[in-house]
Amino acid sequence: CGIVGYIGPKQAMPFLVEGLKKLEYRGYDSAGIAVFDGGRVNVEKSVGRLSVLEKKVEQHPLEGHIGIGHTRWATHGRPSDANSHPHSDCTGKFVVVHNGIIENYLHIKEKLIAKGHKFTSETDTEVVAHLVEEYYEGDFEAAVKKVLAEIEGSYALVFLSQYEPDKIICSKQDNPLVIGLGEGENFIASDIPAIISRTRRTYILSDGEMAVVTRDSAWVMNRQGVPVTKKVFEVNWDA
Ligand code: GLU
Repeated sequence: CGIVGYIGPKQAMPFLVEGLKKLEYRGYDSAGIAVFDGGRVNVEKSVGRLSVLEKKVEQHPLEGHIGIGHTRWATHGRPSDANSHPHSDCTGKFVVVHNGIIENYLHIKEKLIAKGHKFTSETDTEVVAHLVEEYYEGDFEAAVKKVLAEIEGSYALVFLSQYEPDKIICSKQDNPLVIGLGEGENFIASDIPAIISRTRRTYILSDGEMAVVTRDSAWVMNRQGVPVTKKVFEVNWDA
């Protein structure tokens, strides 16, 4: 139900937790974050209030400068630790958070199970993580494009990969997603209140768009990869 992302020189975790708190008003049943520590992507997630997740990460901080976070409002699969986002593929090298519903997930799940993928949750979202791993042939962005061409439904999706940890890739269809443009750092969120304390310069993504976000840039394109020229939207109100 809520999404945040960070890439830049600072520790990602403080922003991820703070941003998710700003989105609490939307309601949720579980929360989780994933942070790339320079070697691998570590995930911490938990059913219940954000304070439960906060306690976990106080004990075992997730260190690193690139991360994504999520608060879940369950649609497919009951609220549980296993069904909480972020979701990973079998290798743990691809991590994804999702708002919305993947309508054709059962069909994709059957196909992937037949190819040997092992699922650990009951969510529609988990197929997205396995699918990007299935399509990955050395180019993260190309793999995500293939995933977006195959999935149907509504989504704000944010992808992180251990293979290309200098970028976050995101896309949206019928669910909101915003990029916050900082100085040498960038932010992603499902709603402006999550980022307003960090930057007021934003790109509001439209349906069918995807973005490759690095520390210094945010390239917006359509799902086929054709560049889209975005206007910066300056937020002039306070959250
Ligand atoms: N359909 C996904 C799930 O049930 C995402 C729900 C959401 O938007 O939080 O896990």
